[in-house]
This record gives sequence, structure tokens and C-alpha cells, in this order.
Amino acid sequence: MKTLRIFLPVLCCISFFANAQATTHSSLASKSTQPLTTQPLTTETTVTPETTTVKTANTNSAQTLPIISEAEFSVCINLLSEKAKSAGISNNIINDNLAKANFNTRVIELDRQQPEFSLSFADYFNRRVTDQRVEQGRALMIKHRKLLNRVAQQYGVPAPYLLAFWGLETNYGGLFGNIRVVDSLATLACDTKRSDFFTGELISALRILEEGAIAPDKMVGSWAGAMGNFQFMPSAFLKNAVDYDGDNKRDLWNSTPDAMASAEKYLQSLGWQHSERWGREVKLPIDFPFLEAGLKNSRPLSEWRKLGVKRADNKPLSNDNVNASLLVPAGYHGPAFLVYANFNVIMHWNRSEFYALAVGLLADRIAGGGKLLQSPPEDGPRLRREQVITLQEQLNQKGFDVGIPDGIFGPGTRRAISEFQHQQNMIADGYPGVKILELLGVTIDSVKN
Ligand code: CA
Repeated sequence: MKTLRIFLPVLCCISFFANAQATTHSSLASKSTQPLTTQPLTTETTVTPETTTVKTANTNSAQTLPIISEAEFSVCINLLSEKAKSAGISNNIINDNLAKANFNTRVIELDRQQPEFSLSFADYFNRRVTDQRVEQGRALMIKHRKLLNRVAQQYGVPAPYLLAFWGLETNYGGLFGNIRVVDSLATLACDTKRSDFFTGELISALRILEEGAIAPDKMVGSWAGAMGNFQFMPSAFLKNAVDYDGDNKRDLWNSTPDAMASAEKYLQSLGWQHSERWGREVKLPIDFPFLEAGLKNSRPLSEWRKLGVKRADNKPLSNDNVNASLLVPAGYHGPAFLVYANFNVIMHWNRSEFYALAVGLLADRIAGGGKLLQSPPEDGPRLRREQVITLQEQLNQKGFDVGIPDGIFGPGTRRAISEFQHQQNMIADGYPGVKILELLGVTIDSVKN
């Protein structure tokens, strides 16, 4: 885990959706992505769902993929076997699993994919928080009511949130991924990119096999080794998986009680505040100072209230000292949200503001809530990766620091745009509308608004 944090402050799981949805949606329009946790997709760059669109493997990808020969892989497996042995894994488990691991080119291909487009909040939200997913979540809440109540009482995360994670991670258990985890992790451990991290995860996976939680041929997951209903990485499994049905196995694939209790325990360990919401939709006054928006600017509700922020239903905010940040993921013409401490817990599961908003909003709807009062505009800009890089380079040149241009439209880029808009006497909502793109010299061929 420590190694992972160097790259991505994501703690738990690497979502299967990263590739599943890429594959699914690419045929529609190239889109989409990931959920829970992480996306080891793009190295140390930020992995925000804002950019989760993943291009399906293109015909050129093979040219850039690292070629590893059978002999080299075999040497690597021998080294990994020695490390596993030193870590206390038995010879039987090593010989029956690691020694028989297969190099999976597709895993490397998926690991090398880059987002083709930045996703707008509308793109992201509308594909994940669907009426169908809401209805399914409500039905599952009834079906599993007893179990959900028990685990919520024990660990403190209300059922709608658990269902929201479940729905976003694997479509309620429908999409686990089907790559053998030892194969995917051995492949990534023998790659040069993040070998140490994936070696650690591989040894954790072998430890799970050693404890007999799952039969080796049933231990399948995403291309990056995320497993089961909630897409836990092996190290997260070892720390948080719970045998909740009493069969002495921690089975996050086939046991709903085990899976739910484990996700609850994991969220509890991240600091979930059981009596608090994730956040809520709010209304802003016409003269709201948008430079105050952003996750990093946390202040008491009483101060937001003074700035004219109201609940979306026009009721006043409570006048207390709960800290909150204000987010406008689709700019001033889209919905606004105040988010609380639990939002940051969700961000530890998957460091994406869009993902965390989707969890909160899906949970609200599963709990019986209605749709957003202010829908995100669907005609927002969809920027190609190279356009985002141009945007970032221009912002850097003008003195608005976005760091090294990486083509990923994340919070840092949004913040820099806000400051640039402020300088230009524009509404500083951080949204890359047509005028901003023109001012920054970004070709706007694919922008509709
Ligand atoms: Ca069990």
C-alpha cells in the first residue's frame, strides 16, 4: 500500500470498470471508466474520473508495448518465487500457482492505455447514476435488508452507501473481471512500471490462496488484480476481508455477507462518520464568489451560509461548525454541492471527485431521494488529451501553475482555470468553456458550447 500511495493516494481497489467500461463504451463513443479505487492506468499521474475515458487498445499499441520473452518471464517468475518464499509462502502454493503463471499481454496493453478524452461531469454522472442502477439498488436493499442492517449496525456505514459502492464497482456483483489474479499480478510485477507495488500485491494474493479463501482457478479479477464484489486489491483483502457467514472462508466473490461486511469494515477503517451525510446539492446566489470553490477550501457551514448558500430545496443550511467544501463540477451553470468529511473517505477509496459524487448521489437516490434539481449540462466540452495538454501548457505559461502537463483535467487544472478566469473578470468556476479555450489558444473543434 505504501508503494501505491507514491503513485496514487488510492487505498483499496483497482476497479475492474477501468477496462470493462472502456471496452463497453468505446464502441459507443469511447468513454468511460473507472470507479472505486484506483486506476493504475496511468502511472503516477492523477487518475480522476474526469479523465477516465480509456481508449480501447489500438492497433499501434503493440508497437509500444514492452516485449518480454518467455525465457525472461520465466526468470522473473523464479525471482518472484524466491521473494514469495522469503515472505513465508509455502512451496505448494508457489509451485501450483506462481510457477504456472502466464504472461498476459492484454494486461500490459490495458495498463498502457491513456484516456482519449476528458469526461465531463454529465458524461460521467449520467452513465453511472442511471435510473436502472437506482432501481436495482433499491430492490437489493429490500432483498438484503437484514444483512445490510446488521453490517451497518456493526461497522457504521448506512446501507445506501454500501449499495452505491457495490453498484459502481461491479454493477452489484455483475462484473468481477475474469482474468486470473496471479496471472495479471505476475505480469505487472515482471513489467518495469510498478514492479515493487505489484510484487507486493502478488505475494498478498498468494497469501489469500494459502489461507484457502478461494480456489486458485476462481481467483479472478480486473486486469490490475482487483477482486470480487467490491474490487479489493489483495493487500486490502488481507487487511479488511471478513468471514461474515461463518464458513471460515473470506470469500469476496461468492459470499454476499462476506463482501458486504468487508466493504463496511474497510470504509470504517478509512474513518466513515456514521451519523453524517456525504454532502448535498445546494443552491448558490447569483453573485457567489466561485474562487471559494474546491475541495481544499473547507470551512464551517455557518460561513457558507453567510455567503448565501442554501440547500437545493431552498431550506437554510444548518448554522453549525461542520466543515464542508463546495464543488461545481460542471461550472456555474451546473449543480453545486457541499461535501463533508465522508466525501473525503470516499476519495480515499477512489481519488476522484466525480466518483465520490456519484457514490453520494447514487446512495441518496437508493435511499429514496429524487434526481438532481440542477442537471449537469450535457453539451459541455469534451477535450481530447492533447487539447488538455495545450490548455495546461498555456496556463503554465501565463503563470497559473498546473504542474507538468499530463493531459488529465483534474482539480489542479480546474483551479488554475478559476484563477485565470478571475484575472479576466469572468465567472471563476474553473469550467473550460468556449471563451476560456479561445483565450488559451485551444482548438475547439469538438466543443459544442
Ligand atoms: Ca465466509
